Amino acid sequence: MKLKGRTALVTGGSRGIGRAIALALAAEGADVAINYVSSEPAAKEVAEQIRKIGRHSTLAQADVGDYPDTFRMAQDVLKEFGHLDILVNNAGISSDKTFVRMDHASWRKVLAINLDGVFNCTKVFVDQMLKQEWGRVVNITSVIGQIGNFGQANYAASKAGVAAFTKSLAKELAGKGVTVNAVAPGFIETDMVRGIPDKVRERLLSQIPLKRFGTVEEVGRAVVYLVSSDGDYITGAELSINGGLLM
Ligand code: NDP
Repeated sequence: MKLKGRTALVTGGSRGIGRAIALALAAEGADVAINYVSSEPAAKEVAEQIRKIGRHSTLAQADVGDYPDTFRMAQDVLKEFGHLDILVNNAGISSDKTFVRMDHASWRKVLAINLDGVFNCTKVFVDQMLKQEWGRVVNITSVIGQIGNFGQANYAASKAGVAAFTKSLAKELAGKGVTVNAVAPGFIETDMVRGIPDKVRERLLSQIPLKRFGTVEEVGRAVVYLVSSDGDYITGAELSINGGLLM
């Protein structure tokens, strides 16, 4: 097992990609805290699955866009686990509209959760990672942050911001035992993608060289790679998992 003895927190671990990341980390031996904002039953189910395979899991409810709430959550997680080795900033939302129709509230909401959320969660754990001279931070970005998308100015800006944050923080922390990387999924089969109308799905599939959407498990395995010793020499990277959509 590649992560035996490690502790992790996955934001947005109750559903979709975050759920798969949490289960993949636990399968490699990590104890995992599951952050969520409102889906308590779903988060409980993930924690239960992790406990069934003999790992420790705890629920960590907080709105990552809210700094005081995130700070409170971090204190609870550190009390429960004693320390945190791996932080996966996965929580994210979209609120799509063409720019002309996009109001300020929708811009702020997406930026608050997707970008401020990454700042907030990293900020509340980084001192402890620096103190123990070991830490792994993985931020989930998106191919949309790399290429932009019609109707997603807020989402694309938030993800491009996280990618730039990743590289800056990687440079600052590289000499201190903490690596910071990003994983940029393309279109992955989750609630977010299942809502796409059939016609648009077909058009998207025609643009993907591997001719399918990705699976959440494929993203989970990439995160394990980056946070295990296999990824020790990788920092500041943005690993694309997009079926060749962008190359
Ligand atoms: P889902 O909509 O399936 O799940 C979103 C998760 O984020 C849920 O666990 C949700 O918690 C949590 N969340 C939402 N808002 C907050 C908040 N304010 N505070 C804490 N947690 C919150 O999303 P996906 O699995 O599809 O996406 C996960 C990440 O991957 C996102 O960052 C997304 O941008 C990115 N991504 C997704 C792609 C895809 O194709 N699906 C492609 C590229 C990137 P709760 O259950 O409580 O609501």
